[in-house]
Amino acid sequence: MESETLDTPAIRSVAVIGSGLAGLTAAILLGKSGHRVRVFEKSRGPGGRMSSKRVADGSVDIGAQYFTGRDPAFLTFLETYASSDSFGQWGATFGFQQADKSWQPFPDESRYVGIPRMTAITRGLSEHVELTAQVRIARMNRAGSRWQLICTDGKDHGEFDQVVVTAPPAQTQELLTASGLMTLVNETRSPGGDILPCWAVAARFDEMPSAQFDAMRPDSDVLYWVANNSSKPGRNDDGQWWVLHATPEWTDANVDASPEKVSNDLLAEFKQLTGFDGTPTDSVAHRWLYARSASTDRPGFLWDQSEGVGIAGDWLVGGRVEGAWESASRLTQAMLAG
Ligand SMILES: Cc1cc2nc3c(=O)[nH]c(=O)nc-3n(C[C@H](O)[C@H](O)[C@H](O)COP(=O)(O)OP(=O)(O)OC[C@H]3O[C@@H](n4cnc5c(N)ncnc54)[C@H](O)[C@@H]3O)c2cc1C
Repeated sequence: MESETLDTPAIRSVAVIGSGLAGLTAAILLGKSGHRVRVFEKSRGPGGRMSSKRVADGSVDIGAQYFTGRDPAFLTFLETYASSDSFGQWGATFGFQQADKSWQPFPDESRYVGIPRMTAITRGLSEHVELTAQVRIARMNRAGSRWQLICTDGKDHGEFDQVVVTAPPAQTQELLTASGLMTLVNETRSPGGDILPCWAVAARFDEMPSAQFDAMRPDSDVLYWVANNSSKPGRNDDGQWWVLHATPEWTDANVDASPEKVSNDLLAEFKQLTGFDGTPTDSVAHRWLYARSASTDRPGFLWDQSEGVGIAGDWLVGGRVEGAWESASRLTQAMLAG
């Protein structure tokens, strides 16, 4: 078994669980300060909810649609570690529908996307970390002052001085419970609340739907979000890919529905909304059990110095891409100060 503890006391070995934006941010910032960091990810690659799906003629962003850069330090971080070519502004028209069904443009704000797909950012960031993919950490065992990480196959993945958990709240609570960290479990119960589910459908059309905006938040019981993915910079799609996200309530009510039924229902609502009657030539559906946090209570991060366990993620800062970065940045500051 490999021991990850180093001889130099100031240099710590840290395991980061999850390679979404929060996990990659924490790993990069801790690594930059000289700590030895390893990232564990249950999926095939990095990205988490900043996810893109491969389709016949390219890819389509099925998770996060865009992100803000309200804190200039976030954009600087991305430029430094993901590269300035990996993202850019999405100069689309954005509109939301009011209860009387009239449309209003979104407030002016710079909105960014990954180029040529959302995962370009997390791919770029992951080049700065030591990432082990397709390993789901099931529990952490105390090994003296260190934590031994065990995956769902029962394999030992080494011992670490500190652990950063960046999974969504239900998965974080499961891991902490299996590791006997009940005080931290209780702390995670109140702040972030639940993350709401979301059925996502992407559909390709040969012709252009006659929509009022490139990206829309309709007043609908079925659709929460509709966007022309092909209007994002760097996409060279043949035809147009549109992304439809269901409302949390509709997703909840249809959580076990087949992808075919979900696609049909969302496309029917899309037709109703846009008046566009074209038939998609291709479509994919994806169910997010954990999509967006509805929380307004924002502790930022959780850090139990005596246990050496920190928790970061979007759900601790209001459920957005920029929040994931902010949460991980604040956690690492606290860890580096301790
Ligand atoms: C449909 C949808 C639309 C969205 N739209 C927007 C938007 O337009 N703008 C915006 O700002 N935000 C949006 N978001 C939210 C945004 O995607 C998230 O805020 C952000 O990506 C969260 O990053 P994170 O690192 O905190 O978590 P995640 O990206 O969820 O990363 C957590 C990672 O941990 C891994 N993991 C979990 N448990 C384990 C384990 N036990 N062992 C190993 N790995 C584990 C997961 O596989 C995952 O990769 C959207 C999300 C969804 C799903």
